[in-house]
Amino acid sequence: MKTIEHCAACPHNCGAKRNLLEGDGFCQMGVMPKVARVGPHYWEEPCISGSKGSGAIFFSGCTLKCVFCQNYEISANHVGVHITPDQLANCYRNLEKQGVHNINLVSASHYIDAVVESFKIYKPKIPVLYNTSGYESVESLRRLDGYIDIYLPDFKYSDNRLAMKYSGAYNYSLVTLRAIKEMVRQTGKITYDENGIIQKGTIVRLLVLPNHTKDAKAILDTIKYNFGNKILVSIMSQYTPMGEAYKYPEINRKITEKEYDEVVDHAIDLDMDGFVQELSAADEEFVPNFDSVSSDYFNYDSTH
Ligand code: SF4
Repeated sequence: MKTIEHCAACPHNCGAKRNLLEGDGFCQMGVMPKVARVGPHYWEEPCISGSKGSGAIFFSGCTLKCVFCQNYEISANHVGVHITPDQLANCYRNLEKQGVHNINLVSASHYIDAVVESFKIYKPKIPVLYNTSGYESVESLRRLDGYIDIYLPDFKYSDNRLAMKYSGAYNYSLVTLRAIKEMVRQTGKITYDENGIIQKGTIVRLLVLPNHTKDAKAILDTIKYNFGNKILVSIMSQYTPMGEAYKYPEINRKITEKEYDEVVDHAIDLDMDGFVQELSAADEEFVPNFDSVSSDYFNYDSTH
């Protein structure tokens, strides 16, 4: 793997030097992927997890610093182990052999070089999902064209002041809209197999924050205006104050049923297609366990 002298992999464009294991950029990560969990994951939208699970690979580190991050252990504390692009390709092979519906790359944007290299080694036969904060550069996304079948971006904020305050990205809203346009260009409209499992398309996730329904509704307006019903929207109720959310009283609680209904009603008024969640999803039990990652996934035995 090559080290990077001036990193521009994500919209921070911070020009950082990144060696194999560490970097001095906003994300602080080196170029060698660090993974915190590999395995079937059953808590995505039903058309993704299906009955056999989604083959998730959770990458450590992040290009945002969300104070409320629901995966704080890996995004901020950087738990995980370093693997090579070869080993990443072996994760695809092993997950595929387990019978999952798809390969699901969770927060891989800062490892774009290694991800592209892994696909050159092995392109999975099942659909590949790219699960992202939405804060992506169009140039990096273009390098994934032809490898990714389904994009699963968040759209976290309409108001950039909130993006700066809670995630450290002053230009999040416009950057994310541009990124989603590129994702939709690549995937086209939503298609499913005969069992209702998604094969192609873009699903935008919106995590409703307490006291911020106005911003959530503005995001829905933006999505509808730009994409009509070509993409799906997944309105998530699972916000749980984690990480440093306790420092921000206005977001230091779960959302109420009234807040969630207000956002869902707006999506219904806009005649949008997608998914809603039970409020009971707002529980730390739904946060995956990042205690250890099985190294069995990193080697592939082609004789079985
Ligand atoms: S990937 Fe990391 S080092 Fe590279 S531009 Fe983004 S934040 Fe900076």
